[in-house]
Amino acid sequence: MEKKNHIVILTGAGISQESGIKTFRDSNGLWENHKIEDVASPLGFAKNPKLVLDFYNLRREQLMSDEVSPNKAHTALAALEKEYDGKVTIITQNIDDLHERAGSTNVLHMHGELLKMRCINCNNTFDVKDKFDQKNRCPGCKKIGLLRPDIVWFGETPYFLDEIESILNDCDLFISIGTSGNVYPAAGFVQLVKAIGKAQAIEVNIEGTEISNHFDQHMIGNAGEKVSELVNYILKGV
Ligand SMILES: [Zn+2]
Repeated sequence: MEKKNHIVILTGAGISQESGIKTFRDSNGLWENHKIEDVASPLGFAKNPKLVLDFYNLRREQLMSDEVSPNKAHTALAALEKEYDGKVTIITQNIDDLHERAGSTNVLHMHGELLKMRCINCNNTFDVKDKFDQKNRCPGCKKIGLLRPDIVWFGETPYFLDEIESILNDCDLFISIGTSGNVYPAAGFVQLVKAIGKAQAIEVNIEGTEISNHFDQHMIGNAGEKVSELVNYILKGV
């Protein structure tokens, strides 16, 4: 790696899973016994807002509990941002704050954040650490009952797509960590990077994926171990 290059890292469920966060991809399209479309789609929210708000209140509670903390992969990526003599950008599909808790500062949450809520009326977002329900008032426009999790649900457009496109254009090394390779548009980023042509692409995952053939190198294993190895190699050449 030449110095002052731009490293772009895409992270997915696999990296959070090792921190104790449960994801729906474990169990045949169910997420903690709920059908995905019931808890992670605009239609599901319209049909049963209480169910959806309760569901994310529980996810938030779990995220804030002692059970969950950043793992070695998060810590290694934070060290990379701090110590690398170039730019490091994380694009994450995860809605938790584990990258930030580990110390990363340049993180784009393309699928939103569990610790934010958004007002359907004024479209402002607000930090939220506790439970909220339909009785809560928007801190912005003061209307009641119009707050929703600031999460990109199925059928909605991911955030930062324009910004992500220019980041991928500028990228010299692309690293994908713990992503299954079947959720688009994120699964297409490696093809975009390779089409531009200048960047190397490395995939770190517990197993091969449907998009593995687009990467130049593969590291098969758990993220904690493999990402630490990779970051050591980038920073120290060992
Ligand atoms: Zn509002």
